Amino acid sequence: MATENLSAIVYGKNDLRLENRPIPEPGPNEVLLRMGQVGICGSDVSYLTKLAIGHFIVKSPMVLGHESAGTVVKCGEKVKHLKKGDRVAIEPGVPCRMCDLCKAGRYNLCQDVYFCATPPDDGNLCRYYKHAADFCFKLPDNVSLEEGALCEPMSVGVHACRRAGVFLGSSVLICGAGPIGLVNLLVAKAMGAAKVCITDLVENRLNLAKELGADHTLLVKSGSPEELAKQVEAAMGGCVDITIECCGAEPSICMGIYATKSGGVMVIIGHGPAEVKMPIINAATREVDIRGVFRYANCYPATLEMIASGKVNVKRLITHRFKLEESHQAFETARTGAGGAVKVMISCE
Ligand code: NAD
Ligand code: ZN
Repeated sequence: MATENLSAIVYGKNDLRLENRPIPEPGPNEVLLRMGQVGICGSDVSYLTKLAIGHFIVKSPMVLGHESAGTVVKCGEKVKHLKKGDRVAIEPGVPCRMCDLCKAGRYNLCQDVYFCATPPDDGNLCRYYKHAADFCFKLPDNVSLEEGALCEPMSVGVHACRRAGVFLGSSVLICGAGPIGLVNLLVAKAMGAAKVCITDLVENRLNLAKELGADHTLLVKSGSPEELAKQVEAAMGGCVDITIECCGAEPSICMGIYATKSGGVMVIIGHGPAEVKMPIINAATREVDIRGVFRYANCYPATLEMIASGKVNVKRLITHRFKLEESHQAFETARTGAGGAVKVMISCE
């Protein structure tokens, strides 16, 4: 077996280094993986350029990457459901499995979680990485490692659409057409949404959204949240059942409330400023439920089935491909959005 483990490590602001780290030894319930594909998430870019997201701060060198898939090269002695050679999607957050939230199945809310590339936990933009075997999901033969890596962002969409109650015939507004808005578009459509309207500030993202099946797009240029909500209403033939907020900007959250019909639901995925002023009384007096979304729980199996069955074509999100050795260029592309970058994928093979 190889003796080197090239890893992409953030050392400081805009200081990304490729260096060899030891190949880890899997514990009894873990597998050692040869990394295949790793997508770059906005959070990886933030940790590299700002060293922080909210109260998560990079205080010591950290391996980036958490949207990933790889191949099993070694199994811990207690691992039963995987074997050497299996290709797997890696669910990056391993919770404690002991607390009340874990026991209730809401393990995404566990306070004692190892989450790849959330400081201080190392990610897996590297050649070899070990992970809890029960958070590795075997890929069917017709699902590629790239698609396996995309299970991560897509699971955010599955969790959000479940929390929002997307159902046959739903009308849905999605705010923001970045990777997260776009996976929500794909998932909402697959879950039976009849009509989806998606917004963004950038035209080329809306063009991709149209190709992916958006029924209406709204280029947000000017106008108050109420005026923009009126435009959504006009396009959709009324207020929407569900709004899925995927950018976190204050005006967008406000617009989402106004655009949602009485008795409807708005889920908030986007993380903007920590405090946001919004028309909460408008929502309250119209019984618009506002629900949070944090990552996902129990979503990988459904996500994989949707990809394997061809119901969701998530690989359309990939706009750029690089090798691990080209990580600097990959991160620069993701940071600047150069060439219409949406999802930048890095091959570690
Ligand atoms: P992104 O930055 O690539 O996409 C956000 C999009 O929103 C961009 O295309 C941007 O042009 C657009 N936008 C900005 N302001 C807007 C406005 N006022 N109206 C309409 N569109 C606007 O980010 P992403 O990777 O797609 O992630 C989206 C958000 O979701 C981020 O805030 C991210 O931190 C968050 N996120 C949350 C979770 C979670 O578990 N809750 C998981 C992943 C990502
Ligand atoms: Zn727990």
